Amino acid sequence: MPRIPADEILIAGQWRLGGGLPIHTVDPADGTVLATVHAASPEDVNEAAHAAAAAAAAPEWRDLRPHRRARVLYRIGDLIEEHADDLAALQTADTGKTLAETRALALSAAGTFRYTAAALETAEEAITPSRGPYLTMSTYEAIGVVGAINPWNSPIASDAQKVAPALGGGNAVLLKPAEWTPLVSLAFGRLVHRVLTEEGLPTALLAVLPGKGRVVGDAIVRHPLVGRIGFTGGTATGRAIARAAADKLVPASLELGGKSPTIVREDADVEQALAGVMYGIFSSSGQSCIAGSRLFVHRSLYDSFVGELVERVRELRVGPGTDPGTQVAPLVHHAHRDAVAAAVDRALEEGGRVLCGGAAPEGERYAGGAYYLPTVIDSLPNSARVCQEEVFGPVLVALPYADEDELVALANDSVYGLACGIWTRDARAAWRLGRRIEAGTVWINTYKQFSISTPFGGMKDSGLGIEKGRDLIRAYQRQKSLYWGTDATPLPWAN
Ligand code: NAD
Repeated sequence: MPRIPADEILIAGQWRLGGGLPIHTVDPADGTVLATVHAASPEDVNEAAHAAAAAAAAPEWRDLRPHRRARVLYRIGDLIEEHADDLAALQTADTGKTLAETRALALSAAGTFRYTAAALETAEEAITPSRGPYLTMSTYEAIGVVGAINPWNSPIASDAQKVAPALGGGNAVLLKPAEWTPLVSLAFGRLVHRVLTEEGLPTALLAVLPGKGRVVGDAIVRHPLVGRIGFTGGTATGRAIARAAADKLVPASLELGGKSPTIVREDADVEQALAGVMYGIFSSSGQSCIAGSRLFVHRSLYDSFVGELVERVRELRVGPGTDPGTQVAPLVHHAHRDAVAAAVDRALEEGGRVLCGGAAPEGERYAGGAYYLPTVIDSLPNSARVCQEEVFGPVLVALPYADEDELVALANDSVYGLACGIWTRDARAAWRLGRRIEAGTVWINTYKQFSISTPFGGMKDSGLGIEKGRDLIRAYQRQKSLYWGTDATPLPWAN
């Protein structure tokens, strides 16, 4: 059992109990209550926003040169890495994920801070071409207070992807973790708080404000001092946030849901494709926005490929995230497991055939846990709900296709456009398909590889705006143009 930090949250630079309802956060491996976190209230959000605005405007932060801000980010990255084992254990307890995955997520958060620091140190402001007797410059300035709202599936990595560029851009941040998984964000907040204290900077530069339901997130989005929203979560929530941001005329980046196609062409390396398709959907127990949840296999090898896949899926080791042998860990919460089970029931009602899984595993090992067996379904048209709606669990739906035009039509027949996997030995076909599929990220002969240096975003209902990449800090800044007269040429109305 990892050491659970105190149940306080970080409001206006201070650790204290929030004024909202308590959150009892649960270990989904066995259902035990891990901690009771005293969530924030709307009044806490208001106090945190005012303190954050003052912190962002404080000369010791506002006037800190980019290379000095970078030093703060490097230090946070180093501290996260030093504590990677503790952070991983805490996140495994709170989310159920395997320790291998949560350790990788902690290290990726450390890497995000370092990458952002390096980008900050090397960012340049441009002198733009002059069209008259003046010098023109394009500069970037902090926005002030940024709201960062995250889902439960990869807390520390999503936290870093917003907090690092927001701080790098000279802002203060109000971070809202998901109700089911507040613990690792609070532990991350303690590390950032420590660095800010050691560097003599305002500790209100980061608030960590867990909340029940939508109350806290909504209070952050609507707060008049919050000038930019970074959101990752479901599409319906993203729309609500976009509407609220539009009312205030502030920018919002939205990383939303997905129903990503993974395509096995007739010329694929079958061994590689089998492993890739399984990893693409069943790692993280399918609780990944980029999960390859719709499998399209060329008709000529559909039966053999899907038959072999089902054999291998039956062999996947289901168990607690703390067991090094586990491949498929419990889902994040019992309520979510029930929602996944309901989606499979709907598929059956629509005439689907469950080829494996389709139930919670039985036995002492799984008692009290939010487990669900990895599941493969077929015999459904692409219009079936399980082919169109995001399940966000270990459920793969398989469909055959006859030719490339049919494949593209089926793959693009989705409201989502987040990711796509293509398994083929034909480089030209990979290029053609990669360009024709509507998705923000396309993997060819690989899947779910991620790099902070590569921009990431969704098309259609999968999102708006880009995270990561060399310009990640610019997304959390305002651009300003300066014109500076260079000679005494009189303006038209000068006497
Ligand atoms: P969710 O939309 O229910 O909640 C996300 C966050 O928004 C939580 O912190 C929640 O408290 C907050 N929230 C809820 N209502 C709000 C409102 N009206 N205003 C402001 N904040 C509000 O999502 P979830 O169930 O926590 O996460 C699963 C979803 O996240 C899936 O759809 C998944 O695809 C998506 N996701 C997307 C990406 C991506 O990068 N595209 C990454 C991970 C997860």
